[in-house]
Amino acid sequence: MTVILDTSPRAAPTKSASRPGLVGLDRAGLAQALAGIGVPERQRRMRANQLWRWIYNRGATAFEMMTDIGRELRIVLAAAFSLERPEIVSEQISADGTRKWLLRLAPDADGRRHEIETVYIPEADRGTLCISSQVGCTLTCSFCHTGTQTLVRNLSAEEIVSQVLVARDCLGEWPGALAVNASPPAGGRYITNVVLMGMGEPLYNFDNVKAAVDIIADGEGLSLSKRRITLSTSGVVPEIVRAGAGIGTMLAISLHATTDEVRDRLVPLNRKYPIAELLEACRNYPGLSNARRITFEYVMLKGINDAPADAKRLVSLLKHIPAKINLIPFNPWPGAPYECSDWETIERFAEIVNRAGYASPVRTPRGRDIMAACGQLKSASERLRARDRRAMAAPVEA
Ligand code: SAH
Ligand code: SF4
Repeated sequence: MTVILDTSPRAAPTKSASRPGLVGLDRAGLAQALAGIGVPERQRRMRANQLWRWIYNRGATAFEMMTDIGRELRIVLAAAFSLERPEIVSEQISADGTRKWLLRLAPDADGRRHEIETVYIPEADRGTLCISSQVGCTLTCSFCHTGTQTLVRNLSAEEIVSQVLVARDCLGEWPGALAVNASPPAGGRYITNVVLMGMGEPLYNFDNVKAAVDIIADGEGLSLSKRRITLSTSGVVPEIVRAGAGIGTMLAISLHATTDEVRDRLVPLNRKYPIAELLEACRNYPGLSNARRITFEYVMLKGINDAPADAKRLVSLLKHIPAKINLIPFNPWPGAPYECSDWETIERFAEIVNRAGYASPVRTPRGRDIMAACGQLKSASERLRARDRRAMAAPVEA
């Protein structure tokens, strides 16, 4: 029997804590929150803009920091709302500078507190923040550690945006904050790019991902343009069509195989949306050009999808789609049923793809020593006992 795909995770919670959070609200949402505490209508727009700048541009974590808002109103705001971040359970720093934060979310209605992981990857010319969109994932790609986590729920827009805020807190990337490192990767910014490549399938949490992306991309706030935000999907075809029209970020497709027979095994969602349909949705993704390509991710699995014939098929499948190909060496995890392809095999594969005109960088695995590399994420709440977790929290020297 084929595995039945449960593609409907529980909805994200509305904050059950006594004071609702303001992070994750757009300007209209902030204005509505202000209405709820009696701010007169004629002031709401202006106040919402003030809150917006404090929260998303200055990184305020307390209302008392908001010096252009009168003291009285600040007190009322602080009594009614929260600006709390998720709790940082641990911060691990890899020998290669990659950082991974384990974040504990505010309690759900049933009192449970879920944990998610966020990863920061510094490179010479950019700093990429990899954020999660769900706790766990309902899909069960057979090479992915996250897919083995059974507990799943969508993250709220607040929880998605908060990952960027926490990373900026830790990196000291707010105006006037003390930066932790004298030389940020590019243009004076630590976080230049955001990828939705952490835990979860972002297109199964469409509305919250869209709300979060709109906030992260807003020029008066966190200001990361949509060209610098990449949404990675395992191939939820109807939602790719909606994402093209409604979210507008760059797109990455977890392709990983060149025949339906192999992809069915690696990415079970392929049984529902096979390769031909997936590539048709890619071809129709709006705004594609040579400067704006779709990234195709291809994990190199020994003896499974790494033959020269696969490389040739890959090239012909992607004909007429402005594409980049990212070859990802498989990152192992305990009990994984696959091995990473040999380097010679990967190089041979890359050469075929290169010869066809694709720059196909083999992605150097980052942060493997702290289980922060692609597909290694899984809430430590499931994986580790508290004692082990404390041991892991000790930073690895860079
Ligand atoms: N769910 C989305 C986004 C998160 S996964 C998706 O699947 O696209 C981020 C990327 O890591 C995906 O391309 C995924 O296929 C890949 N990946 C998963 N497990 C991996 C592993 N063990 N080694 C290397 N890449 C992996
Ligand atoms: Fe989910 Fe992506 Fe992992 Fe597949 S690869 S199980 S879609 S997180």
